[in-house]
Amino acid sequence: MKTPFVTQAQLQEIVKHYPTPFHIYDEKGIRENARKLKAAFAWNPGYREYFAVKATPTPGILRILKEEGCGCDCSSLTELLLSEKIGNVGEKIMFSSNDTTAEEFQKAAELGAIINLDDLTLVDYLEKSIGYIPEKVCCRYNPGGTFTLGETREGFQVMDNPGDAKYGMTRTQIAEAFKIMKSKGTKEFGIHAFLASNTLSNEYYPALAKILFELAVDLQKETGCHITFINLSGGIGIPYEPEQPANDIAVIGEGVRKAYEEVLVPAGMGDVSLCTELGRFMLAPYGHLVTTAIHEKHIYKEYIGVDACACNLMRPAMYGSYHHITVMGKEDAPCDHKYDVAGSLCENNDKFAVDRMLPKVDMGDLLVIHDTGAHGFSMGYNYNGKLRSAELLLCEDGSVKLLRRAETVDDYFATMVFDA
Ligand SMILES: *Cc1c(COP(=O)(O)O)cnc(C)c1O
Repeated sequence: MKTPFVTQAQLQEIVKHYPTPFHIYDEKGIRENARKLKAAFAWNPGYREYFAVKATPTPGILRILKEEGCGCDCSSLTELLLSEKIGNVGEKIMFSSNDTTAEEFQKAAELGAIINLDDLTLVDYLEKSIGYIPEKVCCRYNPGGTFTLGETREGFQVMDNPGDAKYGMTRTQIAEAFKIMKSKGTKEFGIHAFLASNTLSNEYYPALAKILFELAVDLQKETGCHITFINLSGGIGIPYEPEQPANDIAVIGEGVRKAYEEVLVPAGMGDVSLCTELGRFMLAPYGHLVTTAIHEKHIYKEYIGVDACACNLMRPAMYGSYHHITVMGKEDAPCDHKYDVAGSLCENNDKFAVDRMLPKVDMGDLLVIHDTGAHGFSMGYNYNGKLRSAELLLCEDGSVKLLRRAETVDDYFATMVFDA
């Protein structure tokens, strides 16, 4: 059972001021979750979460997370600028980019960000771009092959294919990168890896941590480089489907602590700080896409046409992802109608749900599409001339704040050259 964080009465009030579709975020949920994460890693003195800005690049959200102690994980120039604008600079920025431009490295260096190098060739490129190699640098590791977890909870496999991923350096390359940078004055080294996405398992982070901790011990011995931080990146998932079990961040933190005490402490590396770059886990459950049913269509299947489309939330169209839908005011009605819930794009994959059992939907009903707080609005686009929606915040005191206005037709035309 998934319950929206807004009530029907609240939404009916909100739509008087902000027409659907819009994304709305839950300040209370965001803060409580961020505090649980912090508590789970409180045993590690240097711990910091760097929120993956790409998941929700919205100043009002980044500021809430900043107040909860989070930095920003950026991977582009505009994400760096956004982080600067909300006051996260210096070591509160982790710059985990790939295929990076000189301009991006220059801005990252100017802000004093921790630079996470995706490739061995970037050591030279970084030095040419900014004129030096920083004193503190991170390198991204790719172990190749496939990554699977032995222990999985019923029905859920954790499996991914690092060997097919464009990111990171091989084991040999990371050692070489460390040695070169040490010779150029780097004093503090970090390692990073992202091996599986949207994992529903309390074992993922501990397993990843063990791999990185063992690598850190080996690398420190082999290269003499002082490894002072380890970046566990993103990848902790959320249960998009109502029956899926949620991860328990306290159990995850404890699992990582065990690996830390088994591997790092005996090697005399008990001073290593940890950091994370979570996006989905921090925000996805605390966002809803709110849309209105505007048409029904009865052909070979039953369709409900809504006023949102894949431009507002691309995941179902792009990955076939499940997003739960609540028909507001009908929470207790039987789900005895089978619908495709579709947007208006001239693309047949523009469907938020296919063959979904829902209560009977009437025109004008408000639909809440769940778990859109991360990789939701941010993946939006303008296909078919669709305009980006507004983003709202449901504040802790129950009031509603505008975080981003909806795009207008003028915004859409602003970059076009009409007399060319
Ligand atoms: C996307 C990304 C993240 C965040 O991933 P989530 O699955 O949202 O936790 C973190 N780090 C890097 C480098 C990424 O590309």
